[in-house]
Amino acid sequence: MRPRPSKLPHVGTTVFSVVSQLAAEVGAVNLGQGFPDFAPPTELEAALARAVRDGKNQYVPVGGIAPLREAIATGIADRLGVVRDPATEVTVTAGGSEGIFDAITAIVTAGDEVLVLDPSYDLYAPVVALAGGWTNRVPLDPVTFAIDWDRVAAAITPRTRLVIVNSPHNPTGAMWTMSDVARLADLAEAHDLLVISDEVYEHIVFDGRPHVSALAHPGLAARSVVISSFGKSFHCTGWRLGAVVAPPALTRELRKVHQYNTFGAFAPAQWAAAEVLRSATGHLAALGAFYQAKRDRFAAGLARTRFRPLPVAGAYFQLVDYAAISDAPDDAFVRDLCVAHGVAGIPLSPFYAEPPAGQRLIRLCFAKTDATLDEALARLALV
Ligand code: GLN
Repeated sequence: MRPRPSKLPHVGTTVFSVVSQLAAEVGAVNLGQGFPDFAPPTELEAALARAVRDGKNQYVPVGGIAPLREAIATGIADRLGVVRDPATEVTVTAGGSEGIFDAITAIVTAGDEVLVLDPSYDLYAPVVALAGGWTNRVPLDPVTFAIDWDRVAAAITPRTRLVIVNSPHNPTGAMWTMSDVARLADLAEAHDLLVISDEVYEHIVFDGRPHVSALAHPGLAARSVVISSFGKSFHCTGWRLGAVVAPPALTRELRKVHQYNTFGAFAPAQWAAAEVLRSATGHLAALGAFYQAKRDRFAAGLARTRFRPLPVAGAYFQLVDYAAISDAPDDAFVRDLCVAHGVAGIPLSPFYAEPPAGQRLIRLCFAKTDATLDEALARLALV
């Protein structure tokens, strides 16, 4: 067989998998890949077991089971005061990732340009490439990670079709504001752009600042695909359960991809999620405070190390500056930290087309038990 060119020549195994494997090999405390090391709510575990026992084990409708879509629409109405139709505007996917894959695949055609804001999650650009599109990566402010809308506006060309935004932001923990939303709405309207708003950390927000959803701005919502993650919100990232909210015409196109991709997310998890979204509403309301306590515990401990923590507004990642410790590039530093000091983190450079010169930042996940965080801090204090 003759060798075929790779469709993704610049992509290897994701940094998250590489770091998790290295952490397992050397027995490091794994603050790399973003997942909780504690259990989902017990009522969710029980609901999943019950769903399997009750025979909820066959294919589901392509949009997802109706009770889950209804619970998602009810949550949006309660939190944002926005009415969305669960039948034609909500789709359940196998994780937020599948929702993003389906949306990009449904929207991007060959030669389209897609604007992505760097640092950006590593899924976006490769999926745009698979769809035949071209990603134009606009840097966020290197200090505050705010969106520079003048740079975004300057990057728009007649071929630009889609903008991908993410708040709360992975990897930086920054959050956008209502004025960001308004600015994007104006640009999208003026240039007839569509938007994917990756809001998978929507419930993990701190210091009383509300999550600002693209759904809350009617003009932007009319051109947006908004991504949610049940796994992020209910401590079960391995269940692969997410949701997409988009206007009917976009939802129709997205479901065409979804039906030939996974067809449906794991059925018993959909039943369990529907039950818990209805009954355990307090869980989501308490999630910000739950993670804020972890953020604060971790940042207080870091103050006793040579790592300098950056401010975190949302999501469950802490950026730390290691310039006082080493001048090594972030990938080499992460490897050394894992092998020699037993703490696994994620370098920031894979989130960029071109990382800012001299940046010495790594990402540490604080979605961990206090015992795990304390063990990591004890090891970091020795670095
Ligand atoms: N979203 C997770 C993170 O940022 C990674 C998920 C994955 O490994 N695919 O750490």
